[in-house]
Amino acid sequence: MHAYADLVEKNKRYLWNPFTQMKDYFDRRPVVIARGEGRRLIDIDGNAYWDGVSSLWLNVHGHRVPELDDAIRRQLEDIAHSTLLGQANVPAILLAERLAQIAPTGLTKVFFSDSGAEAVEIALKMAYQFWQNTGKCSKSKFVTMCDGYHGDTIGAVSVGDIPMFHARYAPLLFQSYKIPFPNRYRNPYTSSDPAFGALHAVEELFQREADQIAALIVEPVQGAGGIVPAPKGFLTGLRALCDTYDVLLIVDEVATGFGRTGRMWACEHDGVSPDILTVGKGLTGGYLPVAATLATERIYTAFYGEYEEFKALYHGHSYTGNQLGCACALANLELIERNRIIDHVAQSARVVSTRLNALRDHPHVGDIRQAGLMIGIELVEDRETKRPFPLTTRAGWRVCWQARELGMLLRPLGDVVVFMPPLASTVDEIQEMTSILCDAVERGLKEVVGK
Ligand SMILES: *Cc1c(COP(=O)(O)O)cnc(C)c1O
Repeated sequence: MHAYADLVEKNKRYLWNPFTQMKDYFDRRPVVIARGEGRRLIDIDGNAYWDGVSSLWLNVHGHRVPELDDAIRRQLEDIAHSTLLGQANVPAILLAERLAQIAPTGLTKVFFSDSGAEAVEIALKMAYQFWQNTGKCSKSKFVTMCDGYHGDTIGAVSVGDIPMFHARYAPLLFQSYKIPFPNRYRNPYTSSDPAFGALHAVEELFQREADQIAALIVEPVQGAGGIVPAPKGFLTGLRALCDTYDVLLIVDEVATGFGRTGRMWACEHDGVSPDILTVGKGLTGGYLPVAATLATERIYTAFYGEYEEFKALYHGHSYTGNQLGCACALANLELIERNRIIDHVAQSARVVSTRLNALRDHPHVGDIRQAGLMIGIELVEDRETKRPFPLTTRAGWRVCWQARELGMLLRPLGDVVVFMPPLASTVDEIQEMTSILCDAVERGLKEVVGK
């Protein structure tokens, strides 16, 4: 047993946390998790908290799930890891088959990696090299959405557009075309229908530049950009434009895949299949770092040829196709099906939506956005003008600190309070978590306004 103070001292001395201002972190009594139990996390002093953001949008069934624990143990009896470069392994082959079976139509080839950012890097290299291999070498640029987020590596940041995370690195990035996202709350277009405006902007760009453009990348629900679902029909429109102008469509479902929005894939809501799909987060149920980039036969075929043509995709990571991760992912997908998780999410989402009615008239709640169990509550200083609070107010954080006092761990995106419970949370658990969420919003805002 380690004492709390001792561990925090060692944290201070040795551990540098991601996306964390370390001074701020140590000023606020860090949480040190010792174990998990179902949908709860338990710190080293035995305090239990609801895992209100699924350990950063990953968790599907909860923690210490017997089926997932067993799958990893069973795989460990055989082997933990061997390379996928030039050879294969059993769970990686079976997982590729399973993913191809459940993927949107036409995505038949699976390329593994270890994180969402890598899945995106691979998608970008795949799209770029597809045109190189097929003789259309001018098609080398990417189109992305303003406020998009695709991970933190340099390629993924080059197609990202969140100023606080990305602006600093601008000189290191390659240029991409940026189209304002059709955000209904903060509509960037003159048209009252933001999807119409955005599709029009994409078409204008394609008319001028399609012979320079390899692919367009989009999130069906902008995640880190503030939990902003694309309007219905937007992906359908993008698919049609990409077909007309011969641009590849990359859909990034790292956050939205595996049931998060109430369907297996968010692009199913629009009945759309991309040319390239990136998945990660929920793939192993939130257990182990496995991600994947799925591609169509057309793309795969462009890389297929004689050795000396050098058309291969020169990309891979040390742990690509890791057996423990793939075995866990297989068990996760089986459990999603057996426990009818997708139907369950649709039902839980309705419960959340009803409970959040309590906040809809709050003078500092500007907008409540939801896609399945992906929820964002945008706090504003002035509801009429949608004016945000000054940055230093830290309204989003204040709500999350209140939630922690009430027994739930949350992490905001600026002044958007994010709630993403594990998909398998029972309706009772969802009710309890949602009450804490509402209380925390009330208390956090009271603290802000009282100041
Ligand atoms: C989280 C996320 C990523 C990055 O995934 P990591 O596993 O954190 O690298 C990429 N795209 C989207 C849409 C995400 O939400």
